[in-house]
Order: sequence, then structure tokens, then C-alpha cells
Amino acid sequence: MRLTKKQRIELHAKFAGRCAYCGCELGDRWHADHFEPVIRLADERVAEQPANHAMGNMMPACAPCNISKGRQTLEGWRQWLSGHINSLNSYTPIYRIAKAYGLIVETGKPVVFHFETVGSLTHGQA
Ligand SMILES: [Zn+2]
Repeated sequence: MRLTKKQRIELHAKFAGRCAYCGCELGDRWHADHFEPVIRLADERVAEQPANHAMGNMMPACAPCNISKGRQTLEGWRQWLSGHINSLNSYTPIYRIAKAYGLIVETGKPVVFHFETVGSLTHGQA
């Protein structure tokens, strides 16, 4: 589904010009994300969900979030993001030494997406 210009303007405004996931301000280059993926891996097979090609399923996202989320469901992505700290500790010496010197502090906070804290500006309005 290719969005019309009007639909892109509408989607961009959904969270006041911010990424639905991390909350950063969207620049000129942002992605129209499928909240529920159109194609995802289910039982190691590709399952297409063409019904997910709908405006109600679209979220404005910055490129890094959209690319990171990929074909994952929201909860799958949340779990994957939560594991990033373990990956950094396991595989990234520069991260560990920066942490040892107090330059990085792990908060242990859960992953909460921007849209979960602010709600949509366009949903629920008459
Ligand atoms: Zn983002």
C-alpha cells in the first residue's frame, strides 16, 4: 500500500510529528510502519497478513525504529530490545569499560513505547 500525500500528513500528525515508538522528532525522512507486520515469520514459514495494509494499522516511525522492529510483533520487538543490555555486556568491551567508569548507567527500566505514554492525537476524535 502506498500512502497518499494526505494520508502521510495524517500519519505524521498522529503523535504530533514524533516517532510512535521512541518519541524522537521525525525529520523529513520517516517511515510509515505497519504496527502489525504484513509479513512475518510464523512457525518458520512466511505468513502474509495482507489485511494489515490499512491506515488504522500504520504508525509514524523514525528509520532506526522501523528497521529495528522489522517483521517483529510489538511484544517480540519489546523483548528483543530488552535484551540489548545483555548483548552489550556480553559482546561489547567498550560498553563494559564505559559502564565501569560511570559513563553509562543501566536503569533496568522496562521498554515503554512513546505511543503507550501519550496516546494518539487522531484516534478517538470525532
Ligand atoms: Zn523511533
